[in-house]
Amino acid sequence: MIPTSFEYVRAKNLSDAFKLLGKHAKVIAGGHSLLPLLRFRLAQPDTLIDIGQLPQLKGIKKAGGGMKIGAATTYRELLESKELKALYPLIAEVTEHIGDLQVRNAGTIGGGLAHADPAADMPPVMLVLDAAFLLQSKAGKRTVSARKFFKGPFTTALKPNELLTEIQLPAPPKRTGMAYASFEQAASGYALAGAAALIAVANGMITRAELAFTGLADTPFLAPAAAKLVGTAGDELISQVAAAAVAGVEANDDIHANPVYRAHLATVAARRALTTALGRAR
Ligand SMILES: Cc1cc2nc3c(=O)[nH]c(=O)nc-3n(C[C@H](O)[C@H](O)[C@H](O)COP(=O)(O)OP(=O)(O)OC[C@H]3O[C@@H](n4cnc5c(N)ncnc54)[C@H](O)[C@@H]3O)c2cc1C
Repeated sequence: MIPTSFEYVRAKNLSDAFKLLGKHAKVIAGGHSLLPLLRFRLAQPDTLIDIGQLPQLKGIKKAGGGMKIGAATTYRELLESKELKALYPLIAEVTEHIGDLQVRNAGTIGGGLAHADPAADMPPVMLVLDAAFLLQSKAGKRTVSARKFFKGPFTTALKPNELLTEIQLPAPPKRTGMAYASFEQAASGYALAGAAALIAVANGMITRAELAFTGLADTPFLAPAAAKLVGTAGDELISQVAAAAVAGVEANDDIHANPVYRAHLATVAARRALTTALGRAR
């Protein structure tokens, strides 16, 4: 299908973008998720504001013990950053498997997060890393934890007049292992079910354990069951924790996987992610 007509504006700076933002305007970064929406007429903006090249939204820098990533930084740019890979190997591990070369060349981390596809790979990574997102509008700035950002399928805490401008990553604890395991839908690469895990150890005991899912339910979510690993050596409890994390979740049902199968895949992904993260932490 052909999109409805719209005006295309390339923003020269952030305040330029804020002026135009609102109910009838949409921003475009890499366009990989937005263009299909336009073509199916699921989005019919009057104005398209291109923010993909704004230098203020680009780049990866160290901040305190953590790092900050501009929202319009592409997946390729994430993969090219040795510093990012050294501190958050999980981001590189996941990014390598997002889409194909073209998607990674133009798709942006901010575009993917703002789009909030319930099967996207990056949201659970942001949850286990306890990232925060800087949201900006003409009226000012606010910071929202990734854990409060994803509200439902394709729905986030972003207001229509706001932009996601920066992803803020806190320093990971010492002796941390991170891992991601997923079962991909063969045609798109999106997760039928995926799990991200972060485990920190000290003196052979787990001091922090985080587990988050994607593809399993309406929205990515953090599994409270992971906390049961804290204070233990881990190994014997992992299968139990993986099963408990999925139990009671209303799993998605679609042509690719029914809820029982999807819940099974999520349990296996959780077990693999936790086991690998623990091994890497030791
Ligand atoms: C063939 C294909 C395969 C893919 N495979 C995978 C996969 O395996 N795993 C996976 O996780 N994803 C996958 N994706 C999705 C891909 O990751 C996203 O399309 C991409 O990250 C979106 O970023 P973008 O810059 O292209 O966003 P755009 O398409 O430009 O924008 C997406 C949405 O976010 C809004 N937006 C963009 N930037 C901002 C901002 N800074 N602030 C506020 N709102 C903003 C736009 O208005 C729009 O609503 C795939 C996509 C394609 C086309």
